[in-house]
Amino acid sequence: MAEGVAIFAEWAEEGLHPVSLELLSEARLLADELEDKVQAYFLAPPDKETQAEILIRHGADEVFYVFHQCFEDFLDDVASHILAKMIRENSPEILLFPATARGQALAPRVAGYLRLGLTAHCIAFEIRKEDRTLVQIRPSFGENVMARIISLTKPQMATVRPGVFSKAKEDPTRTGRIKKIPLSDEEVKSALHIFKKHPRKAPKVDLAQARVVIAGGRGMGTKEFFAKLYELAELLEGAVGATRPVCHLGWISEEHMIGVSGHTISPKLYLGFGISGAIHHLVGIRNPGLIVAVNKDPEAPLMKKADVAVVGDVREILPLLIRRLKELKGESHEA
Ligand SMILES: Cc1cc2nc3c(=O)[nH]c(=O)nc-3n(C[C@H](O)[C@H](O)[C@H](O)COP(=O)(O)OP(=O)(O)OC[C@H]3O[C@@H](n4cnc5c(N)ncnc54)[C@H](O)[C@@H]3O)c2cc1C
Repeated sequence: MAEGVAIFAEWAEEGLHPVSLELLSEARLLADELEDKVQAYFLAPPDKETQAEILIRHGADEVFYVFHQCFEDFLDDVASHILAKMIRENSPEILLFPATARGQALAPRVAGYLRLGLTAHCIAFEIRKEDRTLVQIRPSFGENVMARIISLTKPQMATVRPGVFSKAKEDPTRTGRIKKIPLSDEEVKSALHIFKKHPRKAPKVDLAQARVVIAGGRGMGTKEFFAKLYELAELLEGAVGATRPVCHLGWISEEHMIGVSGHTISPKLYLGFGISGAIHHLVGIRNPGLIVAVNKDPEAPLMKKADVAVVGDVREILPLLIRRLKELKGESHEA
């Protein structure tokens, strides 16, 4: 019989990926509603028992782990077979994956091996108590509606992007079961061969975790003017975000995209310059503190949503704002 709400706990080179704790907080809520337990499936390089304990302290009741040298690298063929085996043996009722690069590579493979349905990029869940169904909510159909999707297969599988849920709080008194899953040499054989690694430069400020986000849209006009946003970000110690068209125009890389196809953010301050505020973009802004929008069009949806809506041309307002902030910083140096 299927039981438990399970998550894939992602290893991210030096520790647990923060999204693992976000998935745990949601899994805990769902499991409590179902009066069930939370499981975490954890694949990592050797000797990561302390990380498994972190998962317990953040809400997991059971951690099933495989620690092996091969997980120093990301071998998705090996990982997806092992995960499918863990899932077959433990048959959870619900299974959540992070919509990270790794999660998005693994979840469809696992779903394929186990012949399961999979709902990508959910932003909320509900439990239909009468039949223990997971209602999976995500923007759909041109993102104009919030679709409520149910799976006809079990475990009910979904992915969730980083930043959608808040991290589970640590409870040092929590205890749970940590179980090693035995592995044969055959199971860690990969068809992948890594020739060379190109480490990616970590962004200065992580968009998903940033307290201040300065975002620009097509209204910025040119790549050169868009670059002014970095100056403002420097002054406000924030991260630069963008809409999808701007990324596609090549003004900034897709890693900076906010919205349904990009990052989910929950900053204390969001400043949007020349952004219309299409639903695809807005669903990426969760629980913001203050929204400030600058747009020529007072009717733009972002302007309607903003706490402070400045009607005007970004070409005038952005340089003014940068100048004023520089003056203020100068004043505070003199003080
Ligand atoms: C399946 C799908 C997924 C998508 N995913 C995403 C996503 O993840 N993220 C995302 O952002 N989009 C996404 N989109 C695109 C989305 O629908 C919108 O097209 C996009 O967000 C609009 O970007 P924008 O606001 O930069 O441009 P526009 O909609 O063109 O808005 C530009 C705004 O700038 C204003 N403006 C123009 N000139 C000036 C000026 N000089 N001064 C001040 N204001 C000015 C205009 O009044 C306008 O409001 C997706 C679309 C689809 C179909």
